[in-house]
Amino acid sequence: MRVIGLIGGMSWESTAVYYALMNREVGRRLGGLHSAHLLLHSVDFAPVAQAQHQGDWDAAATMLVDSARRLAAGGAQALVLCTNTMHKLADAIESSCALPLLHIADSTGRAAQALGCRKVGLLATGFTMREPFLKDRLAARHGLEVLVPPADTQAEVHRVIYEELCKGVIRDSSREIYRQAIDALRARGAEAVVLGCTEITLLVREQDSSLPLLDSTALHARAAVDFALAGG
Ligand code: GLU
Repeated sequence: MRVIGLIGGMSWESTAVYYALMNREVGRRLGGLHSAHLLLHSVDFAPVAQAQHQGDWDAAATMLVDSARRLAAGGAQALVLCTNTMHKLADAIESSCALPLLHIADSTGRAAQALGCRKVGLLATGFTMREPFLKDRLAARHGLEVLVPPADTQAEVHRVIYEELCKGVIRDSSREIYRQAIDALRARGAEAVVLGCTEITLLVREQDSSLPLLDSTALHARAAVDFALAGG
């Protein structure tokens, strides 16, 4: 089994989900007491989130490149960056060490294609919804048209992520905001919704959604297990 290096802590609430999912999936596939062979470097999220919101992406890149190098030195054979937003820095991280980065857009995009979707909605942080780094990869490599909510809804979705989900706070009122955002994306023609922030899976489940869910956390974790087990 190959060793997967997780760059986590953004937030640790979702990294804990990756850890559980990957171990459970290896156990399911191999049986018995098998579990995933993992290295985790978990950052302090406060300075990372501060750098994001100040637009200091160089500072954020320095922190994540340090993380990647520690994992490479520890024997990781691939990197899994446990956040959509920080895939803005995917190229910088990947070029900082000799390891492949299992890109979160690719596991999401492949799942959308498997569902036969052409047009998907995206719920994520403001950075991910506004900026091209995830949407363009979904379009260019997976042929998807990506719809995002209007600016006022984006602001609410973003606020819930940083003020609640990253602190482990789950509120019915926030679930309702997401439910309505999904309904509105469906009305505009979305055929599925990308939970494009790794904490949203803590709030929104299939029964809360009028569209099929493309849960980036679960899909990314499963892709990491595919890679780990393909190594023999
Ligand atoms: N985990 C989140 C994501 O998937 C947001 C936190 C972060 O900015 O990394 O985008």
